[in-house]
Amino acid sequence: MNHPSPSPAPRTGQCTLVGAGPGDPDLLTLQAVRAIQSATLLLVDDLVSDAIVALAAPSARVVHVGKRGGCKSTPQAFIEKLMVMAVQEGQRVVRLKGGDPFIFGRGGEEMEHLRAAGIAVQVVHGITAGLAAAGALGVPLTHRAHAQGVVFITGHAQPGARGPDWGLLACTAHQARLTLVIYMGMSGAGQIQEGLRTGLPDDTPVAIVHRASLPDQRHAVATLASLQATIEREGLGSPSIIVVGDVLSGLAASAGVPLAGLQAGG
Ligand code: SAH
Repeated sequence: MNHPSPSPAPRTGQCTLVGAGPGDPDLLTLQAVRAIQSATLLLVDDLVSDAIVALAAPSARVVHVGKRGGCKSTPQAFIEKLMVMAVQEGQRVVRLKGGDPFIFGRGGEEMEHLRAAGIAVQVVHGITAGLAAAGALGVPLTHRAHAQGVVFITGHAQPGARGPDWGLLACTAHQARLTLVIYMGMSGAGQIQEGLRTGLPDDTPVAIVHRASLPDQRHAVATLASLQATIEREGLGSPSIIVVGDVLSGLAASAGVPLAGLQAGG
């Protein structure tokens, strides 16, 4: 009797959203390294350093989907389509994102898209740039004497959308004693400064950390009133994190930044 020949098992690929951390390969998790090494296709964001991409197998295909080389970044819808197609072809896809995939990385949107296509997604978390910035400064983001909590916030709004209400945020941060960690805030720093000044004292310490964890990392410490002027004077650009709050007061004092509370002996 003839048995029908079994149909070939469907080739199932997989997709992992991997946080590449702030840049230094030593800050990758072991899970991230394993995922990168076993990927057959890597879709890589701009802020992921070459040393990390170099961990991929020589046979892996690497596609840069950021704005490298002055080109426009790949449209998000195209990236999502490519991920689905590659997984359906049986590839082990790694979507490599700077920092943590779920902090301003559009990782959430990508996961929703893949799940809607019936694809299971794994997530490997990474050290987010805000934590790396605090590490670069040597300050804690919370401290019993200075800050009861921390807010990670973007300084960049979606096109056509309203950005954060900086005044409201400043009042809340002042009253609830919160540290603010601002991502993507450099181009709007002047506006952020003016908004925050409506609810926080002018001499609130701020720090700007450029390319945290990378060999050319730089930072500047200032007060809220001189945030924009300091960015301009120091020639700091993107990618940078702006930290705002009293957790920086010790650092500001040692950097000679005039703070009223400290001048008064506090
Ligand atoms: N998912 C990322 C954030 C992506 S948004 C994360 O978790 O870190 C991109 C912004 O992150 C940049 O505009 C900048 O504000 C910040 N950023 C990323 N890498 C950075 C680095 N090495 N140093 C300072 N800021 C960085």
